[in-house]
Amino acid sequence: MCGIFAYYGPKTNAGKILVQGLKSLEYRGYDSWGIACKNDSDIAIYKRTGKIGDITSLPKEICGQTTIAIGHSRWATHGGVTRENAHPHSTEDNEVVLIHNGIFENYLEVKKQLIKREHKFKSETDTEVIAHLIQENLDKEGLEESVRKAILKIEGRYAIVVICKKENKIIAARRGSPLIVGVGKNKEFYIASDIPAFLKYTNKVMYLDNNQMVVLSDAKAKFYELTNKKEIKKRIVEITWNPESAEKGEYSHFMIKEIMEQKETLYRVLNQDDKIIKRAAGMINKAVGTYFIGCGTAGKVCLTGEYIFSEIAHKHINSTFGSEFPAHHHFITNKTLIVGVSQSGETADTLEAIEIAKEKKAKVLSIVNVETSSMAQMSNMVVPTKCGPEKAVASTKVTTAQLGVITLLAYACAGRLNDGKTLLLETAGKINDMLNPRYEEHISKLAQKLQNFESMYIIGRGSNYPMALESAIKLQEVSYIHAEGFAGGELKHGPIALIQKGTPCIVLCANDENKKAILSNAMEVKARGGYIIGVSPINEDVFDYWIRVPDVSTASPIVNIIPVQILAYKLALLRKNNPDMPRNLAKSVTVK
Ligand code: GLU
Repeated sequence: MCGIFAYYGPKTNAGKILVQGLKSLEYRGYDSWGIACKNDSDIAIYKRTGKIGDITSLPKEICGQTTIAIGHSRWATHGGVTRENAHPHSTEDNEVVLIHNGIFENYLEVKKQLIKREHKFKSETDTEVIAHLIQENLDKEGLEESVRKAILKIEGRYAIVVICKKENKIIAARRGSPLIVGVGKNKEFYIASDIPAFLKYTNKVMYLDNNQMVVLSDAKAKFYELTNKKEIKKRIVEITWNPESAEKGEYSHFMIKEIMEQKETLYRVLNQDDKIIKRAAGMINKAVGTYFIGCGTAGKVCLTGEYIFSEIAHKHINSTFGSEFPAHHHFITNKTLIVGVSQSGETADTLEAIEIAKEKKAKVLSIVNVETSSMAQMSNMVVPTKCGPEKAVASTKVTTAQLGVITLLAYACAGRLNDGKTLLLETAGKINDMLNPRYEEHISKLAQKLQNFESMYIIGRGSNYPMALESAIKLQEVSYIHAEGFAGGELKHGPIALIQKGTPCIVLCANDENKKAILSNAMEVKARGGYIIGVSPINEDVFDYWIRVPDVSTASPIVNIIPVQILAYKLALLRKNNPDMPRNLAKSVTVK
């Protein structure tokens, strides 16, 4: 989490560039923010709580002439949301100034030692301790070496960017959290946690890998291994995302833009080389034991994969959350296959699960949207979801793309890739027809009816059971209404006690072998006063409100989740929540 953005180069309005870039990274963390601008002899720091989006004019501290600047948008882990805890953090007199993404796990121990050596701290963060660690060696060894030495004492996953008063350079290093170097014209460089921050200026990038540092000085970027300071030559990669794809355009929020982009999602998934899908399917067929691993929404996609593989490929797949995987490591061997599913490819819990599996020599396949992410780099093979940037915290288009990829893989494992492609092609056309203004209006009306409820429930069976869980996540994330998903058959074993007169219950109903049973479950809820919202190809008697979805057999999870995404969005608006930046959350969860 957190957005990092730094500028080094000839432009003298670096502060302004940073504010604009940070705004585009705000989805990664938005409880507070700050910028540090360096001039010849001093560093000015400006920090505030709240969103960067809230500032109307640039504060004077960041308006001055400056060619070196670093900025941060925070998602607090250590220390409350206060101006003191916002980044950048500095030592006394701003000798060393830095921004940080991640958690410095052993910071308390190190802080105690530093306090004994008379260091004084202004914040409660783990980050500030790193600045003091760097300062200890600064006079003797210079910035590069002091940063390197300090970093070798840090346990945990992190990315840091450091400047100091006495040297005209920027130093960045990473382990776990992402950092990308943008290479602009006229010897200018950008460093950011994600590409949209600088996409407006350049599409040429160099990736900083784990345990590496980059030094920007004398109009050059030099990369080194952290452990032995060996220099590394980097390749410049050209990004194909266009700047508009990272902007809202005519939409009022990224969430609705990305929901509507699902008209294209499956076409994009289909637009890959069959060889990639066949090779990935070959890995699954060959493995003795396959684990699908993801977190949050991606975790629900993984569980859906269990059902799709059972039905289509007659294959048993295990799935679990990244954070729970360590408890399964006892089963892992060099024949196991781990399939990591992630939008960003930087999800700390999933990365850690993969690291554990790799220690046991398991193979890794990843399904990621950011093809150059840490997860992609750790994998033996990557199947991209090809969605372009997803910026709303609540995942929508990448979810349906991940489901599309898993569906294709299941068909390919069964030796029926063409049937899978035909199914997705038909589904893509039907989604395109479904996502029209009248459809949105019909769901808006439902949102008006539901906006004041305190709780709602979602049920599904088979592959729509994980989608009931995912529906609950979507509603929780942006509407803040208590929502829970259940397997239809489980209601009678407990949750049905929660149903009262008028309680909304969304029923995800596919035209498949589970239909009769899920409709019986809907009847059971209705008999206890529940208000039944059917998401289904056919309007059934039991429904009080019907949202039509196309009849697409095995692809039903893909079409059933879309109206719930729209409902969640509409509820967020009615309840005056910002759907792009829900409270307490951030995109790309790079902490454990
Ligand atoms: N641990 C640091 C803090 O709480 C960094 C958090 C982040 O990644 O935004 O300030």
